[in-house]
Amino acid sequence: MGLAEISDRIAKAETAAGRENGSVKLIAVSKVQPNARVEAVLQEGHRCFGENRVQEAAGKWPAFREAFDGIDLHLIGPLQTNKARQSFELFQSIHSLDRPKLAKTFARLAQEMGTCPEIFIQVNTGEEPQKAGVLPADTDAFVAECQAMDLPIRGLMCIPPIEEEAALHFALLAKIAARNGLSGLSMGMSSDFEKAIALGATHVRVGSAIFGERAPA
Ligand SMILES: *Cc1c(COP(=O)(O)O)cnc(C)c1O
Repeated sequence: MGLAEISDRIAKAETAAGRENGSVKLIAVSKVQPNARVEAVLQEGHRCFGENRVQEAAGKWPAFREAFDGIDLHLIGPLQTNKARQSFELFQSIHSLDRPKLAKTFARLAQEMGTCPEIFIQVNTGEEPQKAGVLPADTDAFVAECQAMDLPIRGLMCIPPIEEEAALHFALLAKIAARNGLSGLSMGMSSDFEKAIALGATHVRVGSAIFGERAPA
């Protein structure tokens, strides 16, 4: 596979869903990938990338930003409160807001820095104990709480349980977003992004299908 093929499949999925071409943003998930692979995708003209660790992103993206204009970086992994400031400096979007304490820290940083990344609230649609995210039943109240703090909530994000039908989780996330008046839906990975687009994804997070398999940790 690779960038061109994934872009083509996204365009076809948009058309099949009766959606405008270019309405879905492709976040190329570059975590753990060798720099040469990331640079090749930058050379192809792509600018939107996702990382799941603040430390790893801080180590590789400043140099890429020196070399390429217009990089749009998304944090898609869990965030410790003590790394919030660094994440505000590095990322244009954060997809993993999942608790009131972190929301309060974001609000304070936004005030102080005069700017804030666009924010997605992560929802634990599968209600998995080991997974981050607010529970579906708690999401409406948490969205309202974040909006009352003036945080720029762009939408919701989910990572479906691996052993379940992803479409059910995408549909649930879309329903929760709609009743909260949120238009952003960050959902869909290498194995299921077309399904996610059919169900309304505005941001798909695709790693291995673009870059190749990640080296085992
Ligand atoms: C790694 C990761 C992805 C990309 O996974 P692939 O299966 O390689 O496409 C998407 N979302 C999150 C939150 C991830 O951690």
